[in-house]
Amino acid sequence: MARRIIYWFRNDLRLKDNQALSAAVGSASEIIPVYVFDPRQFEKTKLGFRRTGALRARFLIESVAELRKNIRQKGGDLLIRTGKPEEIVAKLAEDYNADYVYTSKEIAPQETRIESSLSKNLKTANVDIKLFWMDTMISAFDLPFPVSKLPSGFSEFERLLSNDLKIKDQFPTPEAITLPADFEAGAIPGLPELGIDPKELPGEISGASTGGETHALAVLKEYVAQYVKKDIAYASAEPLTDTRLSDWLSLGCISASYIYRSVKTAQSHAVTEDPIITNLLKREFLHWTLLRFGPRMFKPSGVKHHFNRRWKNDNAAFEKWINGQTESQAINAIIQKLAITGFITAAERESAAQYLVDDLDINWTWGAMYFESLLLDYEASVNWGRWNNIAGVGED
Ligand SMILES: Cc1cc2nc3c(=O)[nH]c(=O)nc-3n(C[C@H](O)[C@H](O)[C@H](O)COP(=O)(O)OP(=O)(O)OC[C@H]3O[C@@H](n4cnc5c(N)ncnc54)[C@H](O)[C@@H]3O)c2cc1C
Repeated sequence: MARRIIYWFRNDLRLKDNQALSAAVGSASEIIPVYVFDPRQFEKTKLGFRRTGALRARFLIESVAELRKNIRQKGGDLLIRTGKPEEIVAKLAEDYNADYVYTSKEIAPQETRIESSLSKNLKTANVDIKLFWMDTMISAFDLPFPVSKLPSGFSEFERLLSNDLKIKDQFPTPEAITLPADFEAGAIPGLPELGIDPKELPGEISGASTGGETHALAVLKEYVAQYVKKDIAYASAEPLTDTRLSDWLSLGCISASYIYRSVKTAQSHAVTEDPIITNLLKREFLHWTLLRFGPRMFKPSGVKHHFNRRWKNDNAAFEKWINGQTESQAINAIIQKLAITGFITAAERESAAQYLVDDLDINWTWGAMYFESLLLDYEASVNWGRWNNIAGVGED
């Protein structure tokens, strides 16, 4: 058994069903959990808005605060720092004389680069890093094909999995977390410490989710009790036509496989498949698609390498789209709703994206970047993958 492990939380801000955390607690007598706010995540893009906008940053802060509260209830604490994780986590490992750093494996290019730099920095301190692939419900070993042979469309992916779908088992929640005696916990930053003026929050915020594992579990419980157990068809479940579980899923406040198992267990045999199950599989497909194609997904030519398709880089028209001042009242209403809630339904996302692509003919990557800034549920693979589809440069 190792003596000390640094556990670096990333997009897995939960205690329940957290494979890497569960492995860390089972492998060492002391765990030092840490979260690092990375200011690069909040910088402004070349288009003038932030990579992570104020509302999404607030949701992240709430989620981290709740995680700290939950870890404290287990007898531990969450160390909080602001800066470059590849430097801060390596320095903590050295200062605390840790044997290992455990963390989740990410797939988006920027996050992967940070992992590699951390790994290099740890080598010089003689500390090992263990990365856990946690964000999919199916382990790569249980896919019926290698990722390099991933089907090019979701229907085929679903068909190939249908006979042999192996969802990961649930991992135990740590009963206790033991920290070394002397540690500096660090304060949770507010928006200003992340370089964001609180005035950037929308003047009127309505209907935005509150971050954290407890909220995620409560929303799932309510959905299962009110809809799944009562066999009420999802499509007719008016107030919950979108569960909004995606908000918490994006930061890992809840795991996809936990949602899957909870819905499946509660489903009666009489009903047809709950759409959440299909949606989770679509999410899964886009995760593997990002793993297969990497940076191609973020380029205007998309995963299909459509180099001949040209897009307009028209700032004035794009500004009108993001400010809700286009000629379409319906699109304006959607974009305004996105700004004050951080959430729009799947149909609204499709309409707003389609308008930018088909009516305005604007570089679709700009639209994807804007959604990245505002959507509370932003996930690189799903957002960029869906924009690829809508722009006609992605998988079906
Ligand atoms: C242009 C565009 C951008 C999008 N960007 C994102 C994004 O950044 N993050 C995100 O989670 N979803 C994104 N979606 C997919 C979808 O709109 C949202 O997942 C959905 O609206 C979330 O609502 P929910 O949590 O109630 O979904 P539910 O119906 O409860 O579905 C359960 C989960 O499945 C996943 N999911 C749902 N629909 C899809 C889909 N079509 N493809 C892949 N996964 C899906 C989500 O993680 C969701 O939480 C995008 C769609 C479009 C058209």
